[in-house]
Order: sequence, then structure tokens, then C-alpha cells
Amino acid sequence: MQNMCSQAALAGIPFFTEQHREVIRTVARKYPMRVTPYYLGLIREPGDPIYRQCIPSEEELTDASGQSDPLKEDDHSPLPRLHHRYPDRVLLVVTNNCAMYCRFCTRKRNISDRTTAITNEELARVEEYLNDHEEVHDVLISGGDPLTLPLESLENVIRAVRNIPHIDIIRIGTRIPCVDPERVTEKLCSMLKKYHPLYINVHFNSPAEITPRSQKACSMLADAGIQLGNQSVLLRGVNDSPEVMKELLRKLLGMRVKPYYLFIPDMVTGTGHFRTSLETGLEIIHSIQGWMSGMATPQLVIDMENGGGKVPLSPEYVIDKEDGKYTFRNFENKLYAYTDFQPCQNPV
Ligand SMILES: *Cc1c(COP(=O)(O)O)cnc(C)c1O
Ligand code: SF4
Repeated sequence: MQNMCSQAALAGIPFFTEQHREVIRTVARKYPMRVTPYYLGLIREPGDPIYRQCIPSEEELTDASGQSDPLKEDDHSPLPRLHHRYPDRVLLVVTNNCAMYCRFCTRKRNISDRTTAITNEELARVEEYLNDHEEVHDVLISGGDPLTLPLESLENVIRAVRNIPHIDIIRIGTRIPCVDPERVTEKLCSMLKKYHPLYINVHFNSPAEITPRSQKACSMLADAGIQLGNQSVLLRGVNDSPEVMKELLRKLLGMRVKPYYLFIPDMVTGTGHFRTSLETGLEIIHSIQGWMSGMATPQLVIDMENGGGKVPLSPEYVIDKEDGKYTFRNFENKLYAYTDFQPCQNPV
């Protein structure tokens, strides 16, 4: 594991006082810390959006809200590492390792320095399961971060999935282009492009994460013909304002990344200081929808507790509805009437 640093590296950064460092050490004993030198270098001042995402905060220990596994992900696993929650697609957790441990992570409970990656036996059982389940057409390779696997291990997983005839698309979820962009190499790209149709969802939360280096990583992947989407989390003090969110979305489109989901943070213990209200999320979407390119608008989603799955949220555009007569408001809050098509009830 080259190219990563932990608490020791903070000593070299002037704005971490001894008091800061003591807090960080205490929190990191419960929730480990890891950040790449590249990402650490993007911090401009304590408490800024980059800092909040990667530096342990005292609030992680005082937050008693939520649960460690609110989504009950561990209950929808037919096999270790495989989650089959939706009819036609599965989530395959290939590692619990990440290049950086995001302080707001939903899988805080699993992320640790004790790395476990998918074994050949586990992969063989997953293949068997997928071969038997012809209704599955989409395999989402996730983690942890799949791009932390050695190239050959990652290729073994992708090849195995690609060899199953009824699997149409393969998706990879990764934060590497954002937190350790140098790991996106020509070698990685030429391996990935052999397995199309392949989609990658990256994870950027702040416009400050979009730098010449992360732009280069994304354009290398896009040049390999990979469709790039972005999944963000709505985080207090990071991106919970229309101005910041709009700047992020514009910059994403500018590097050929299509905003896909904007998640309301899950109720995970130790992450309460990142939560915002649904209302804030809806207001942000209302400020984007119609005001920016439709290509820029992500779907706001909330993952239901206890395994309910993702539910889309949208500002209310239907103001009134009676006898097939609708009143809509548009993006500017102007009202418009619409009469729905009525099939003829009494044909003559
Ligand atoms: C999010 C998720 C998926 C993928 O869902 P999409 O809405 O298709 O992106 C698949 N399985 C699980 C368990 C998930 O949480
Ligand atoms: S990269 Fe993803 S899985 Fe890893 S710590 Fe960050 S949010 Fe969690």
C-alpha cells in the first residue's frame, strides 16, 4: 500500500495543533483514518469541505443517533459478498479496502485496515449463483473500492462476470479517480476496455475535488469508452447549498461525468454531523431542475432503513389534481393548467 498516509503524516501540516492531533488519534482508534497525500494536499483550511470528508472529528464519537448497519445490507446476502436486493441486478462487494476512509461512509462498520478481498472460492460460488439466476442482467462491482484490488484480481472478477451470457452490463463503483487519481493508469484502462459494456460510477462531493489530476483520470476512463456517472452524498458543510452543488455538477459534466444519484445520508452512527434535512435536498434539486442543463440533474434518493431499497425524491410539481384537471408549477414557480386525456367512457 504505497501512496497513503495516516496520522503520522499530519505532523508535517502546520495547521494541525497538538490538540487536533490528540483528537484525531482518539477518534481513529474507533474509526480508522486513511487519506492519500494527494487528497490531503487539497485541504485549504481546517473545516473546509475536503477536511470534513477525510479528517476524523470529535463528533463521530459523541453521535449516538442511527445504527451501524441501518440498511440491513447484511440481510440480503444469498452468499458472502453478494447482495441481491433488486430483481435484475446484484451488488458484489469485492473488498473492504479503500484508498481513503470517508468520514461519512455508510459502511463505516466494515471499513478497516484488516483488508479482506474476494477469494477464488468465493468468486467461484458467485459465478455459480449468477449462472443459476438468469434474471440478473447487471452486476455492480463495489466495496470498499474495487480499484484498490491488484489489477489481475480485478480482471479475474470482471472476466468471470463477463463470461456469463445473460449479464448485459457491468458497473464499477469507485472513489479512486477522486481520491487517488494517479492510480488510473493506461494499463488499467486497457484492461477495462476489453469488457464492455462497462460503466463506472465515480464519487465526487465537492467542486474542490475536481482538479487537473482528477480530470485527467476521468478523461482517460472516458477515452477507454467507459460511461461515467457520479454518485454524491448530500453532506452538511460540504455541498449542502445550491451554489456549491451547481458548481460541482457543471464541473462534472465538463469532465464527461454524468451526475447520477445524490444520496440523502444514511442513518449511520458516527455520521450525524453530516446530515441535512430532506427539505434541503429538495430545495437544491428545485434550484437545479430547469435552471441547469437537464444532463446535470442527479436523481435525489434516500435509501430506506431495514433494506427497503432506494426511493427517488422529487420536488412537488403537481400543485392540484381534480377530475383529470391538473395544476402544475414550473421551475420558475409559475402555474399552468393541464387537462389529462380521458378515454371515451360511452362509445356510440
Ligand atoms: C444501489 C444498489 C444497487 C444498484 O441500484 P441502481 O438504482 O440500479 O443504481 C443494486 N443493489 C444494491 C443492494 C444497491 O444498494
Ligand atoms: S470510498 Fe466509498 S466505501 Fe470507501 S470509505 Fe469512502 S464512501 Fe466508504
